Amino acid sequence: MGKTNLKVRLLKHTPEPEKTIAMAARLCYSPSKIDDLAESVAGKDQQAFIAKLLEMGHLTTIEHVSFTFGIEGVSRSLLAQITRHRIASFSVQSQRYVGETRDQNRQGSFEYVVPETIFALGTEAVKEFEEQMSQIQQWYDGWVEKLGGGREAYEDARFVLPNAAETKIVVTMNARELRHFFNLRCCQRAQWEIRRLAEEMLNLVKEAAPTVFADAGPECLVGPCPEGKLSCGKRAEVRKRFGLN
Ligand SMILES: Cc1cc2nc3c(=O)[nH]c(=O)nc-3n(C[C@H](O)[C@H](O)[C@H](O)COP(=O)(O)OP(=O)(O)OC[C@H]3O[C@@H](n4cnc5c(N)ncnc54)[C@H](O)[C@@H]3O)c2cc1C
Repeated sequence: MGKTNLKVRLLKHTPEPEKTIAMAARLCYSPSKIDDLAESVAGKDQQAFIAKLLEMGHLTTIEHVSFTFGIEGVSRSLLAQITRHRIASFSVQSQRYVGETRDQNRQGSFEYVVPETIFALGTEAVKEFEEQMSQIQQWYDGWVEKLGGGREAYEDARFVLPNAAETKIVVTMNARELRHFFNLRCCQRAQWEIRRLAEEMLNLVKEAAPTVFADAGPECLVGPCPEGKLSCGKRAEVRKRFGLN
């Protein structure tokens, strides 16, 4: 694994997520009035009901619950990938408003992620990478100064910052989108940084809504690998890693 300071927190989620889903679904299948919905699911086996909804593919019901994560220590490269998920909501720390000059950073440099392949090459390679980041810092600082400092200078000085630069994100996804996100991003074919993030997010939501995410993860957990010729060929290994035999 590369050098990252990845931190993921589940900041908030819909209260009683599985009960909320059960209430929405119960309305579809029974003559319940809205005022009676909470009562109509009380004491019933919500787990079995939700498992059935997932099996039937009645997935609009799980859109009623959403999860908000605080994420830091990830690269701008990861940002480009995660923001492709259009059914999610994002707030990202701005490089226009937040400066990255040497004296604004705790360690005298913008934070960055070292990719695992570079890390695996050993200390010399990591040192070379760090020196390059330091050079970029000098370029950035130089442009901030030449452009007059402050917010307007950050806006254009940031053009020299690399994909490795760290960012902070708040992201909200509903349960249906999250299951789809895990299908794509927990797959061995996903890039290592977003895969690691997705796995950590999955662990967090499994605690909050275990039935909804019981079989969540790469698609090969529940069916054939969709990757065709590009398949990693490690389905049995992957299933085991996600706790399925
Ligand atoms: C291994 C891997 C490699 C990738 N490589 C590349 C690459 O080389 N280049 C690249 O550009 N991207 C790449 N991507 C990103 C990919 O193309 C998707 O943009 C990203 O995974 C988001 O998927 P999505 O559109 O299904 O998800 P979301 O945007 O979260 O959408 C969820 C689902 O909602 C539905 N949906 C959303 N919007 C629409 C719409 N406008 N019309 C109809 N249905 C909609 C679809 O069913 C979609 O699957 C890669 C992704 C992975 C996992």
